[in-house]
Formats: sequence, structure tokens, C-alpha cells
Amino acid sequence: LAAIEEARTPFRHHEWTAAPILAGDASPEAPEPLTNPADPADHPGTVAWASAADVESALAAATPWAAPASERATILNRAADLYEAHFGEIFAIVAREAGKSLPDAVAELREAVDFLRYYAANAPEGDPVGIFTCISPWNFPLAIFTGQVAAALAAGNAVLAKPAEQTPLIAHRAVELMHEAGVPRDVLQLLPGAGEVGAALTSDARVGGVAFTGSTDTARIIRRAMARHLAPDAPLIAETGGLNAMIVDSTALPEQAVQAIVESAFQSAGQRCSALRCLYVQEDIAEGFTEMLKGAMDQLAMGDPWHLSTDCGPVIDDEARAGIAAHIDAARADGRLMHEIRTPNAGHFIAPTLIRVGGIKDMEREIFGPVLHLATFHSGDLDRVIGDINATGYGLTFGLQTRIDDRVQHVSEAIHAGNIYVNRNQIGAIVGSQPFGGEGLSGTGPKAGGPHYLARFGARPAPQ
Ligand code: ADP
Repeated sequence: LAAIEEARTPFRHHEWTAAPILAGDASPEAPEPLTNPADPADHPGTVAWASAADVESALAAATPWAAPASERATILNRAADLYEAHFGEIFAIVAREAGKSLPDAVAELREAVDFLRYYAANAPEGDPVGIFTCISPWNFPLAIFTGQVAAALAAGNAVLAKPAEQTPLIAHRAVELMHEAGVPRDVLQLLPGAGEVGAALTSDARVGGVAFTGSTDTARIIRRAMARHLAPDAPLIAETGGLNAMIVDSTALPEQAVQAIVESAFQSAGQRCSALRCLYVQEDIAEGFTEMLKGAMDQLAMGDPWHLSTDCGPVIDDEARAGIAAHIDAARADGRLMHEIRTPNAGHFIAPTLIRVGGIKDMEREIFGPVLHLATFHSGDLDRVIGDINATGYGLTFGLQTRIDDRVQHVSEAIHAGNIYVNRNQIGAIVGSQPFGGEGLSGTGPKAGGPHYLARFGARPAPQ
């Protein structure tokens, strides 16, 4: 910890810049200030958005990576080394730009490094797709950004990377480190921008494929744009939203279940695609269990994610805060608010909140924040509950807390979800051994960090 503190402290008040990084000269828009979501007075830096001319220049210059797979692998491993060498700076950027606590920032860096090394180790010979557009979200601004880009590069593509508009600084720094490692500038270009830049990069016939993580609605827009403008066989690799449930039956270990729930629903302020949204507790234990859960919520410390004592940081921006607050207010007005803890005043904070629902059917959409919905069920209704969960059409994560072996078997076969977590927290992936991705409305597959992912980025075997 002392080493981490020493490495990140010089960046406590540093200001970074994000701008297009192109093979040629850029002509971006005028720089705008960025704000720390935990503290409106703190400015982690500025961003200059890519102009339409920058998008055109990037498309014209993009060149697939002709280096042999072994050289691509060496360079991606070197990028992983550079990420690790800059850990203090990376922790500081993701804290001040994205509101990530130190444990979250550590996990973010580890996952990014694992992606780089895993795709490097599996870099294929063969023909790439060509130009790959990578569009990433703000909630894992380094890990998902790096995972998409590293896979596309490992397969030999030219990459046009568009990070989320909320988190351009970490993406800019990541691209600088990849270039320093040896990725050529015409192979990897960065285009900070909002939806229009993403739209331009997914509706140009020169683009051969798209990797996207974000909302289901945006994935649909991208699919339509690709269908109109790209080759009919252009791959879209999309990871999208979820409406994730967990079932806790009366045989579950209560302490273990409560800890798993609190971590899954409230860490990262609930801003993970894998986060638990709808908890089903068996009726017989519901009263006591809910009291335990409320008690655990009361222990959560909210505040600036830079502080080591913080469990729950801010949500990403004021628009997100207002949307989540409106959902909570509606529940309060209906008398369905079961519990909420206090919020700090400054910054975009939402207090961890528990809301009663009749079941997952009552949830119209994913609330991307620290809001957990609770329903109860009778043991005879388990199959109906499973049916309701599957009927949402999403299929990202699912959690089960039980000590009945047959039930583990039965439920995990019946549930449609990309990732199932039994008697543990419902969180994320392990690159290589527990790849991550959803089914149905939650994504196209294949799972990131798994053996089939790279194949979608091309690398058709070279002609003999
Ligand atoms: P989120 O709810 O996570 O912000 P979005 O789907 O809105 O999800 O955003 C994910 C990424 O998609 C961001 O980088 C965003 O700028 C980008 N994006 C938004 N609209 C479009 C679009 N029409 N075409 C391509 N990319 C888009």
C-alpha cells in the first residue's frame, strides 16, 4: 500500500489532456475541461474532441498491422509492462476521471494487463478483417477499452478507437503507452468523441468490423448503420446491458450471501454490467435476511474514491445521477423504498438504496447505479421465478446462494445467462479462465477473455 500511495500521490492534482491521436496531423475542436465526478472543483484535465476531418484522416491513414504474430505479441506484452510500470498514474486517472476507488482501480489495471497478455499469447497468424472500430463505455474505461483494442491488434487489424465521452483521459494515456510499446501510429489511432464520432466510425464502407460495449439501444443503432454501409459479413462483437438477478434460498449461508449482495450491487456504485439488480429471497427467511442486508448497507462508507475508507463512490455524471434519483423518488412516492443510506453533498453521489418489487417483471429497464430491487418467493415458485428472469430477454449474469447441490444443477441449467455465480459475489471475469459475456439482449458473444473471442477479429488462416 505504501508503494501505491507513493506512486499515485504525485498525480493527485495533475492535469492530463486527451485529444485525437492520428497517424497524420489532427485538427480537433477547442479543448474543454473535464470534472471529477466526486468533486466538481477538481479538474483532472481537458479533452479536445475529434472533428469530422479527423475521422476522415484516421480512416484514410488506417493500415492493418503487417508484423508477424510473434512481433505483435511482443509489443502487446511490452504495452502490458508499461501499464504496470505506470500503475500510480493509472490509478490516479481512473479515480479522478471515472470515480474509481483504489480496489476498483487495481482490478481495472489487472484486467487490462491480463487482456493484453492473453491476446498476445494467442495472437494468430492469418488475414485480419482490416480496419476495426472499437467503441467502449466509461464504466471500465481502461479494461474494456484495452480488451477490445488488444484483441483487434493481436489479430493484425488497424484500430480506430473511440472511448466514451466521459473517460477520454485514460484512453489517451493507454494509446500513448501502446505506441511507446511499438504499435505503429497508423495501426492504432484514437478519436475521442461522442455518439456522432461513433456513428461516423460505424457507417463507413472502409471499416471491416466493430467491437462495441455499451447499451442495447446503441448496439441496435450500430447494427443498422453497419447493415446499410458495411460489407454484409462485417462482424459486430457487442456486449450490452443486463437485468441481473440473484436467488437466495433458505439454505444459503446468510453472512456469505449478504456480503456477496453488497459487493455485487453497490461496489463501483453499481456501475458494472455484471452488477446485481434484482434479488429474490425465499419468503421463510426474508424478514431476518432483509434486516441483515440493511445493516450491511448502513456500514458502507460513501465518499471520494481517492480515500481508502470509501466503499461507494460517485456515479459518473450529473445526468446519470438525475436519472437514478428520479427512479428512487418514484419508488419513494409509491411506498416501495425499503432502505437508503446518507449521501455526501458535493459530487454526483447516489446512496445505496433498496427498493421493493413484486418481481423482475416490475423492472422496466436497468438502473445503472447503486440501487437494488428486492422480491420474495416461495420455494414452490422457483421455476416461475426462473421463467420470469429468462423472460426479460437479457442474459448477462446470475447469482445463486444455496446449499442444495441438486438445485445448483437445476437452476444453472435452466437460467439463460452468460455468467453464473454460485455462493460467491456476482462480479466480472477472470481473463482466460472465466471469460465474460452475455446472451440475448445482453450481447452477441463470444465472451471476452475466452478462446473464441479473437477468432471474430479475423485471422482467417493465410492462404497456403
Ligand atoms: P452507456 O449507457 O454505457 O453510456 P452508450 O451505448 O450510450 O452506453 O455508450 C457506449 C459507447 O457508445 C460510448 O462510447 C458512446 O459514445 C457510443 N455511442 C453512442 N451513440 C453511438 C452511435 N450512434 N454510434 C456509435 N457509437 C455510439
